[in-house]
Amino acid sequence: RYEDLLRLLASLEGRPYPFYKDLKGVWQAEGFALRFVHVQGDPFAAPSVLEVRYPREALKRLRVYARPEGRVAVEDFLLRSLKARLRALSRPLGSGHSGEVHVAVESPKVLGRSGAHLKEAGLFLRFRLGLPAQGRRILGKEAARLFRALEEHLLGFLQDLDEGGLLRHVRQAEDFAFIQERLPEQGLVAFVGEGSVLPRESGVSQRPLQGAVPFQSPPSLRVSFRAPHAGEVWGMGLPRGLTLITGGGFHGKTTLLEALVHGVFPHVPGDGREWVVTDPLAQRVQSEDGRSVKGVDLRPFVHDLPLGQDTAFFSTEDASGSTSLAAALLEALELGTRVLLLDEDTSATNLLVRDARMQALVRRETLTPLLDRVGDFKALGVSLVLVVGGVGDYLDLADTVVLMEAYRPREVTAEAKAIARAHPTGRAFGEPRYPLRVVSRAPLPGSFDPRRGRKARVKGRGLRELLYGEEVVDLSALDLFEHAQVRAIGAFFRRMQGLADGKLPLKALVERALALEDLFALEEAPELSQVRLLELGGAANRLRALEVCQEG
Ligand code: ADP
Ligand code: MG
Repeated sequence: RYEDLLRLLASLEGRPYPFYKDLKGVWQAEGFALRFVHVQGDPFAAPSVLEVRYPREALKRLRVYARPEGRVAVEDFLLRSLKARLRALSRPLGSGHSGEVHVAVESPKVLGRSGAHLKEAGLFLRFRLGLPAQGRRILGKEAARLFRALEEHLLGFLQDLDEGGLLRHVRQAEDFAFIQERLPEQGLVAFVGEGSVLPRESGVSQRPLQGAVPFQSPPSLRVSFRAPHAGEVWGMGLPRGLTLITGGGFHGKTTLLEALVHGVFPHVPGDGREWVVTDPLAQRVQSEDGRSVKGVDLRPFVHDLPLGQDTAFFSTEDASGSTSLAAALLEALELGTRVLLLDEDTSATNLLVRDARMQALVRRETLTPLLDRVGDFKALGVSLVLVVGGVGDYLDLADTVVLMEAYRPREVTAEAKAIARAHPTGRAFGEPRYPLRVVSRAPLPGSFDPRRGRKARVKGRGLRELLYGEEVVDLSALDLFEHAQVRAIGAFFRRMQGLADGKLPLKALVERALALEDLFALEEAPELSQVRLLELGGAANRLRALEVCQEG
């Protein structure tokens, strides 16, 4: 019983820290049960993991969701509310992390998280709490006080829940899912709602920029959806095919592209990007100097190297800007991307285009630029959205051209076509020698063994790095929005270790790992959040320990 827990805590006063291990187990309070999932070994270690469970009866009012996405939104909202509630409780009490309370919600994305789980048995929420100590001596009386206050917060938390806020949160996520599902049948790759606020306060902030110019759809691209909760929602629909986003520097091109990158996930009300909805299989690709590439058939882009090296099964530990972009495009294709998002700023120019003059001068070309592959991607059902400010050669091929002027988009497709006719590039659109096709690779057993370098450590570091065994995997080119997604990738790699057999293709392997169990069951740490197939597969492709063989 919870009363016994408080007594036990008080009785531990002055004892050595490991006596906290006696707390393991479940303590029943009025209205909830508290379980000690993991008890830290000392006050400087990561704080202990606690799980609170509310019975189903306490949750009757919470059955507001109509769609599965609604459940995730309820979980997301409850965890955010718990975080807000427990903020008041967290304060330094002694050594190390003593007295700290952490609820892991790091971004305004509505995501599945290991910290919250709503199921038939009830509601489960996990968080961390630093059990208090002075030096390595237990501060038992402080701990008892802390847990008494915690009890009140955990009881009050459900009673005081902002039900209006919950409803708005869930409805937003359900409307988002509704639109996202309908994009393909409307022939669209993305939707940007009228009045959206796309720019962020700063490069390191998730908050909307104050005083930003609200998004205004060009009339010719305006479409609407009849969302189940919000009713008719208007905005810009970006059609399938090749879309160019162009305009002068600082007019908001990259900001629009970034918003599309984020729009694969729903956002919380008030974020400004609630109505930015992108195809769930859209992915940004970019050049990435120095990355590792394993067994990719690069021939659609890189071929006939001067010393006759073959690029049909190409590996390198140190890819160049163009090679890394070629690999990223082909890996994305392999993983089932439907929309590729690229920014000229972060793409090697020689892989984007080779103009008429360079075509005339350089005869023994080893690169086929993306420009010559646009049609092939489209034939495979893959659309492209390209931010270009300097490369005009794409105008000939574009299906839609959006010009950004002072943060306002204008559709200029007809103008662009007229200009393309009036100023021919003189460029030869060659017939590439190697066809663009989907090649699958199967990871060999051992690829995901974290013990390869002796130590079995898995640790996420910020948004950019995953420490997996001895290897630091650089994830900075992938669009990850929470540290908890990096942690989740590490946890999924461990599952993939048991599945990789040298036959199962990477895509199927990743799908299977993701389907195996939900995040809540995957690991008891509260810091895992939802990742997509494209990012998990993308992370695998950047693992230097990866070894693959190609399928037929
Ligand atoms: P580009 O890629 O065209 O050079 P950016 O997208 O990088 O331009 O935008 C340039 C600057 O303008 C950024 O600092 C961005 O925060 C700001 N910005 C973007 N969109 C808006 C907007 N709608 N209202 C106000 N400022 C914006
Ligand atoms: Mg830019």
